[in-house]
Amino acid sequence: MRLSQIGELGLIERLKRILDSQIIGDDTAPVNLGGSTVLLTCDTLVEDRHFKISYPPSAIGWKAISVNVSDVVANGGTPAYALISLVLPDVQVSFVEEVYLGVKKACEFYRCQVVGGNVSKGDKVCVDVFLVGETERFVGRRGAMEGDWVFVSGPLGDSRAGLELLLMEKKNYEDFELSLIERHLRPTARVDFAKHISKYANASMDISDGLSIDAHRLAQASGVRLNLFSKNIPISQELRSFCRKHGKDPLQYALLGGEDYQLLFTHPAGRFNPFLSMFHIGVVEKGQGVYLDNNPVEPEGFDHFRVLATSI
Ligand SMILES: [Mg+2]
Repeated sequence: MRLSQIGELGLIERLKRILDSQIIGDDTAPVNLGGSTVLLTCDTLVEDRHFKISYPPSAIGWKAISVNVSDVVANGGTPAYALISLVLPDVQVSFVEEVYLGVKKACEFYRCQVVGGNVSKGDKVCVDVFLVGETERFVGRRGAMEGDWVFVSGPLGDSRAGLELLLMEKKNYEDFELSLIERHLRPTARVDFAKHISKYANASMDISDGLSIDAHRLAQASGVRLNLFSKNIPISQELRSFCRKHGKDPLQYALLGGEDYQLLFTHPAGRFNPFLSMFHIGVVEKGQGVYLDNNPVEPEGFDHFRVLATSI
């Protein structure tokens, strides 16, 4: 049997069975060290899978840190220390240095620190980050309660549109197109939500593979049904302009586009914080699955082994 037959999730299920671990299954692993909860996570960016070698190298470094910070924040934590494993063909030294300038900028922004790593030769550039975070209270995918409201932290679908624009390799881009490209190249992890999540959320994760599939993951882990309202799903002006220009449906981008790194979380309506950009997109109900305006939504989105070449 090939990986393409069981998909990314099928593989993870099998590996979990081998390891027989109760912890695996959230964006980070909460472990107890010296009496406090520490969050562990890792994520890799692979050349021609997540980025092209022609991308600005500093953006690759920025994104490698950001996607890991996003997982820590999703579980109510703040990032602390990172290790980076590099796999490199014989590229220009300046390329690697520029990747690290992006890493440094991200670490300054998120207030974390790279404290080591590893280098190996390989055929493609890979930047693998292992990140440790701290939290007052871990919040995973399992705690959504019937009656909770479902929230996202910001517009969805921009990154996917940005990727499509990048792949068009146009000579000149309009301003709104450049904004979408920037959101794909340099996503910002929502560190501004860390406290709110750890204090108030019942369930939380980041949206890395698309709202549709990630909402399914949260619903399944919590044993609930998520009923989403399409009119409440935040869509940026830039994505609207993109869709108008190319005859596309922005809602499809919001549901299926990945790599926005916004947060998806649930808690009672009364815990709404007007000082954060929280968008109330649905409610948690008894049952299972994800519904949009009362119609079932398929768990479609990005799967490393099933979907061919959607990333690049
Ligand atoms: Mg995640």
